[in-house]
Amino acid sequence: MSVIENGKVAFVTYTGTFPDSGDVFDTNVGGQPLPFLVGYRNMIEGFEQEMMGAAAGESRSFTLTPDRAYGHRDDSAFQDIPRDQFPADMEIEPGMVMAAYSDQGPVQFAIDSIEGDTVRVDFNHQMAGKTLHFEVEVNSVRDASPEELSHGHVHGPGGVEHQQKADDCGDSCGCC
Ligand code: ZN
Repeated sequence: MSVIENGKVAFVTYTGTFPDSGDVFDTNVGGQPLPFLVGYRNMIEGFEQEMMGAAAGESRSFTLTPDRAYGHRDDSAFQDIPRDQFPADMEIEPGMVMAAYSDQGPVQFAIDSIEGDTVRVDFNHQMAGKTLHFEVEVNSVRDASPEELSHGHVHGPGGVEHQQKADDCGDSCGCC
């Protein structure tokens, strides 16, 4: 019987809550199981570690401190940006989450505060500094295809469904 280990594709149903408040921050219960390719950083590391060795039908619950989830908040991850760097017609309010494009790809940031013509933005991950609790049920586990292993993600329903044929995708790849 397949269990969750590196190089497998696992399908899970999960609910994530903040242990302090019990508030649900994410769940796919009632929807499609979430697939992930194990060992390819599709999921936060702590999540994978806690699910290793689990078989289909198995349920696990665990709590991840920030060091095993999205890291601690970094007080130096704030930046002051002149208001005129933002589109003039854009409404900006503290708490808003925005995306920008950097050399390293898309980055998310939150508006922390606005003082006069200066906008203070927070580049910490929205979940940084938070302890997270997960209830997870394993729906199924299967071998990954060679294409999935070379792409580093799951193909098919719930995974990546390539719109266009990827350059490194062989003819045998059913995903493209
Ligand atoms: Zn792919």
